[in-house]
Amino acid sequence: MLRYFTLPVTPFQQNCSVVYDDQTRQAAIIDPGGDLDRLLAEIDRHGLKLEQIWQTHAHIDHAGGTAELARRLDLPIIGPHPGDQFWITGLPQQGAMFGFPPAEPFVPTRWLQDGDTVELAGHVLNVRHCPGHTPGHVVFHSPEMQRAFVGDVLFAGSIGRTDFPQGNHEQLIASITQRLWPMGDETVFIPGHGPESTFGRERQTNPYVGGT
Ligand SMILES: [Zn+2]
Ligand SMILES: [Zn+2]
Repeated sequence: MLRYFTLPVTPFQQNCSVVYDDQTRQAAIIDPGGDLDRLLAEIDRHGLKLEQIWQTHAHIDHAGGTAELARRLDLPIIGPHPGDQFWITGLPQQGAMFGFPPAEPFVPTRWLQDGDTVELAGHVLNVRHCPGHTPGHVVFHSPEMQRAFVGDVLFAGSIGRTDFPQGNHEQLIASITQRLWPMGDETVFIPGHGPESTFGRERQTNPYVGGT
């Protein structure tokens, strides 16, 4: 069975998730933004073998530790969508701006497109391209777990910021209503920050996308 745990990292309390197979203990990490030693200790404590990095988008709190982790453990970096290249290139400047430890750019082993899949220990997750917060933002959906890892697209009671370069509010709303809602009301989503919720609850109560 596929399982996961989430650990908030960096001063921005970014929800870094580790997805793993409970038998083989093979694992993938989503958005290793920082605090790598703490993350690796937790992965060790669970007895997991980390094999892949999956990236939703390239903001510093999500991608600040990606290059270093990939190098330290010789891991492939999968994602985000090529629309985020300028955010990847700008990681050192993002780090300086927000007072993060020096962050390096990276070259994804594999870029992701809408409709792609990623695979871990025989389990398949679907990739949806959800631009708006950043142009290359992707989310990872596991029908098996009824979970979606949505980064900064949607939060419990809120939505992602769109006041960054190449942010786009209308695009973000379309991503949420056309690409997240079809995953089903019961699906639990793990946002990039704050508590989990379900798409059904947000459809009813979220002030930005409620009633859609
Ligand atoms: Zn972000
Ligand atoms: Zn974030």
